Amino acid sequence: MLHQRLLGSADSLQKIIDIIPSPVFIKDENHKWILLNDAATRLLGGTREELLGRSDFDIFPPAQAALSWASDDEVLAVGEMVETEECFTLPASGYTHTMIMRKTLLHVPPGRRFLVGVASDVTQYRNAVAENHFLSRHDAMTGLANRILFHETLNDAVNHGQRALDNVAVLLVDLDGFKAVNDAHGHEAGDELLRIIAGRLKGCVRNTDLVARLGGDEFGVLLRGGPSLRQAAERVAANICAAISAPVTLPQTQTRISASVGITYFNNADTKPEELIRQADLAMYSVKRSGRHGHQTYEPALEATANRQLHADLLQALARGELHVAYQPLWNPPDGLLTGYEALLRWQHAHFGEIPPRVFIPLAEQIGLIANFGAYVLRAACAAARHWPDEVRLCVNISPMQLADLHFAATVSQALAESGLPPHRLELEITESRLTLDHEDALHQLHQLREAGVQVAVDDFGTGAASLDMMHRFGLNRMKIDRRFISGLPSDRRGYAIVRALTRLAHDLGAKVTAEGVEHMEQALCLMELGCDEMQGYLFGHPEAPQSILASPEALLTAVAVE
Ligand code: C2E
Ligand code: CA
Ligand code: CA
Repeated sequence: MLHQRLLGSADSLQKIIDIIPSPVFIKDENHKWILLNDAATRLLGGTREELLGRSDFDIFPPAQAALSWASDDEVLAVGEMVETEECFTLPASGYTHTMIMRKTLLHVPPGRRFLVGVASDVTQYRNAVAENHFLSRHDAMTGLANRILFHETLNDAVNHGQRALDNVAVLLVDLDGFKAVNDAHGHEAGDELLRIIAGRLKGCVRNTDLVARLGGDEFGVLLRGGPSLRQAAERVAANICAAISAPVTLPQTQTRISASVGITYFNNADTKPEELIRQADLAMYSVKRSGRHGHQTYEPALEATANRQLHADLLQALARGELHVAYQPLWNPPDGLLTGYEALLRWQHAHFGEIPPRVFIPLAEQIGLIANFGAYVLRAACAAARHWPDEVRLCVNISPMQLADLHFAATVSQALAESGLPPHRLELEITESRLTLDHEDALHQLHQLREAGVQVAVDDFGTGAASLDMMHRFGLNRMKIDRRFISGLPSDRRGYAIVRALTRLAHDLGAKVTAEGVEHMEQALCLMELGCDEMQGYLFGHPEAPQSILASPEALLTAVAVE
């Protein structure tokens, strides 16, 4: 047959393998090359005649050659294709190449066996991956490690440190006065300043310690050490403060800044890396707020101080414009319709970033700010909702303490009147609590609002003992089933039974049902089957700023459908 004649001729076979751009070779059972294509010859160096009859040990360092023989032996033993990744230092270039080697066994009657191999040079690819790994873990401007590498290294240190506590110190360094330099002399001067500071920080630690730029003008330092780590860390922190406050010469000017440093130690096996960063941040913030500069070590007493500081900051939050409202969509999946948005309050703290409502709402209740916050949310949300399609309602969370305020009904009516939002498009979400039930004024105000057409829902249904009583006494419009019953659906049989019973109960009482925290399609399908009227959760949308919800295609679609 033609293909037999073709391949049977050594000349044809050589020609065929020579046009293959990857190195191709055939070895006998003694690992000696008996056929090499042009690419393999070029790679190994020398002429084909010189190479044939030789083996890896004649070309490569013994350790590399031994590895290659080992994979040959594996092929001979298993009789199947074997793929390995091997590094070879090539005599011709002196460079080390990373190769993917594929070898297989060739049986040639009568009873002879050969190894056929193809090599792909993946050196460039591997280098690119390594470079990418490096770039994605370093800050391009200062050359320091970035936040990702800092977290990875801290994770490793803490995980390895489980048995040896007190051997990891975390330092957070925040520059004081950096913004002023940036504003006064421009970004280039600011960048140059950061590069100089980065160099000084590196000068304060050993090569084995890690210095990272965590973002903006914040740096992190990770120190490892033995029993004297605490003294060492304090010394490093003091050196850092001194080094940073030395005068800096920039192209156009001379300047001086300072640093606040927070320190914490890994001394409890249960402490997670994020917690260490939070502790160091708290210590650093305590220095910063005191206006002292310098360094401070974390201690539990700082938590109480921080709480007081948070109080003070919360008092200013509204005036400083740090509060805003985000909106999370509510959907009716069977019809695929957007039915409403829930207004959720957000606090963007100047130093700590976004603080969750579960932290600051109770605080606001405690210090008597909740009425102001509530009024702000109502006003902002009603004004936003005025622009939504008519059948999209607005849900606003109301703290039971707000209800106890005698002006509450008036505040709601005022927000409605100012915005022109019809009362029936507003739904107040009230978490069940004794306070709501027992307070005469609260009851009175609720009834007043209901008469005006405002709807009322009971939030987090099932989390407290008063839910049923509340449904009964107020004849509420809606029941929101708490996420804890939804999260295990559809496999959680108890959750399933509870949701089914609650849905039936709500429907029997003439109320609608909204399921909270729907994250997966399977949950949504299960809830649909259970007759749930409305769903809310990350599956349908996260809380978003009012501008983005209006720009979202769903909102536009609904708006178009309405016209
Ligand atoms: P909530 O009323 O039960 O609000 C729903 C919470 O669940 C929101 O958290 C929301 O972001 C979160 N969530 C929504 N979908 C999902 C999901 O699929 N998975 C998970 N894991 N979570 C989801 P957020 O915004 O942190 O609010 C927490 C709580 O703070 C609210 O719980 C509410 O009780 C209170 N809150 C928020 N804004 C206000 C407000 O303006 N006034 C009052 N009084 N309380 C508020
Ligand atoms: Ca709610
Ligand atoms: Ca809820």
